[in-house]
Amino acid sequence: MNKIRLATIWLDGCSGCHMSFLDMDERLIELAPYFEVVYSPYVDTKEFPQNVDLTIVEGALSSDHDLEMIKKIRANSKLILALGDCAITGNISAMKNLYGSEAVLQRGYFELADMNEENRYPSTVVPKLLDRVIPLHEAVKVDYFLPGCPTPADAIYEMIHALINGTTIDISKYTRFGK
Ligand code: SF4
Repeated sequence: MNKIRLATIWLDGCSGCHMSFLDMDERLIELAPYFEVVYSPYVDTKEFPQNVDLTIVEGALSSDHDLEMIKKIRANSKLILALGDCAITGNISAMKNLYGSEAVLQRGYFELADMNEENRYPSTVVPKLLDRVIPLHEAVKVDYFLPGCPTPADAIYEMIHALINGTTIDISKYTRFGK
C-alpha cells in the first residue's frame, strides 16, 4: 500500500485545531499506517516538500508569509483541506479587519509592548501584514472544508476516514461553524 503523503500547517490560527487533531487519541494509531507525515508542526521538516497528497491547513491568511505559503502548498498538494473556521471564514483572526493592520501593529508593538518611536517594529524578520485577513479560498482553490472552532476530533477522524475509503459523509453530524 502506498502511504498518503500528509502535510499539516497552521498559518494565522491559534493551534487549537491542531490540538483537536491530536485529540483523536488512540484513533491516531489506527490512521498512522495510512500516512507518511512529510511536513507538520508535529515533525521537524523545515521546507514544504513536493508531491504532497493531502495538506490540512489551519488558520487564515494574515501576512505576506501566509500568502506565499498557501501558494507553495497549492502548487505542491493534490488536495487541500481547510481545517477550522479561521481557515474557512477568517473567524477570530479576521477580527483585525475591524481596525486594520496599522492599528494592530500600533497596539501590539507600541501600546502593549511599551516601545518608543526609535524602536519601531521589526521590518525584516516579521512578515508584513496584509491589509485584510482573508480565508484560504480567497487565495487558492480549496478542496475540502471542515468547520468548527476548534473542529472536533470526531469530525477530523470521520473526514480522514472517508478520504481514505473514498466515501462521502454528512459532516454536519459531527461539526458546525463555531462549535
Ligand atoms: S478555528 Fe478556532 S481553534 Fe481553530 S485556529 Fe481558529 S481560533 Fe483556533
